[in-house]
Amino acid sequence: MIQITLNKNHILNYEKGDIVKWLKTIENIGIDSYEIVPVTSSDNRYHIDLSDKEIYEKFELMVSEYADYILQIFRDGITTIPFSNIFTGTILRIIKRESTDSCNAGFSFCVTPELKAYPCHMFIDDNTDGIKFDCNFRNNIKNSPLFIDAINCNKSTIYECNECEAKHVCSYLCKGMCLDNNYSPNYERCLFMKIILKKIIIFLTNDYNKYKENIKKVLIAKNVNL
Ligand code: SF4
Repeated sequence: MIQITLNKNHILNYEKGDIVKWLKTIENIGIDSYEIVPVTSSDNRYHIDLSDKEIYEKFELMVSEYADYILQIFRDGITTIPFSNIFTGTILRIIKRESTDSCNAGFSFCVTPELKAYPCHMFIDDNTDGIKFDCNFRNNIKNSPLFIDAINCNKSTIYECNECEAKHVCSYLCKGMCLDNNYSPNYERCLFMKIILKKIIIFLTNDYNKYKENIKKVLIAKNVNL
């Protein structure tokens, strides 16, 4: 699995059809899946400023073309092309009427080579100290503001998520980023998720019955990686 991070320059230079060209290249490098995420950065060289009309329109075009390309793979029943789990996960949740919570940070953890534990790598910076990873670790979690914040940060405690049409199926909430951003989700990631969700809903409404067997075939093949 690889992660593709898009920044302002990818968006500003984007031309119709580019994303399909990029993905066709990635499909040939021997991976089983990838994730595409908009960069989270306040650095003006990279920040995707969606208040800029040109950037917004190009961003929307790119994500829409991305969704169209992947959803065609479902219609065609192709199981050999790698793509992002955001499609399989979201389609499965809608079909099975299941919802998903936020990421696992706080319930899972990572440990640095210095044996300091954090809710995930996003929480590691110069200003926060992790918990010593020793035999008291499990008890110390209960008193760690870092872990308490991570455990308490979820879609139900975030205003924007509570108001959002994607709240039941969205898997894009990153607790680390959200806490860094004063309990607000990242707008670029949210727009990305919402465009994909809209495309998936239209796809399932119009095409699910017609392509049911092909859709199932792809879901079964890809579900192994979820
Ligand atoms: S798209 Fe954004 S606002 Fe909506 S549920 Fe996901 S993280 Fe929350």
